[in-house]
Amino acid sequence: MFPKLCYACREYEPLNNQLFCLSCQERLPFVSSKEDALAALEGKDYFPEEISDFSTLFYFTKDSHVAEIIHRIKYEGQYRMAKDLGVLLGEKILLDQDLRKYTIVPVPIHNKRRKDRGYNQAEEIAKGFTMVRDIPIANDYLIRTKHDKSQTAKDKNERSEALKHSFTISPYHERLSHIILIDDVITTGSTINACYTQLKKKSPTHVIVASLGVSI
Ligand SMILES: [Zn+2]
Repeated sequence: MFPKLCYACREYEPLNNQLFCLSCQERLPFVSSKEDALAALEGKDYFPEEISDFSTLFYFTKDSHVAEIIHRIKYEGQYRMAKDLGVLLGEKILLDQDLRKYTIVPVPIHNKRRKDRGYNQAEEIAKGFTMVRDIPIANDYLIRTKHDKSQTAKDKNERSEALKHSFTISPYHERLSHIILIDDVITTGSTINACYTQLKKKSPTHVIVASLGVSI
């Protein structure tokens, strides 16, 4: 059930029933509290101000073990890793909070990309999350309508503007008022912003955001 090699360094065996070896367990940049998670959002121009519930596992920086983990999850087919880290996230998130009203909504990727990749990493994180918290997942509530081939040419504002028109809510799904929005990494906050804008349109919505990482 548990990985043979540490999910971070891929070199040493993890501790019993853990995902990381002892050394990584000690050195990985874990976000230790909700206050620290929220503090990491300060200065993110696009993260919606109304969202005050945010949980995340790691601080994300370039060329780090965390960046490698995310890369494996998104581009190297390691969906199992996403699910296992989703379990960690489920164990960590707001354990004192009553989440019975909530439904998990993974940030969607476009169908074309899902087909190429074979999975949506946010859905895999959600699967792990729900193993510990037993909350329903709605993969079909939020839909990604645009497939951005390359965003690198655009600046931050243009990207954010383009993203706003990249999501829609399914007309067939019952309305959800309490949502845990799950993504892999929060960088500028513009993806969450674009999703949140759509979610609000359908109904007044309480949104908790959970991710594996937050960039700093
Ligand atoms: Zn390690």
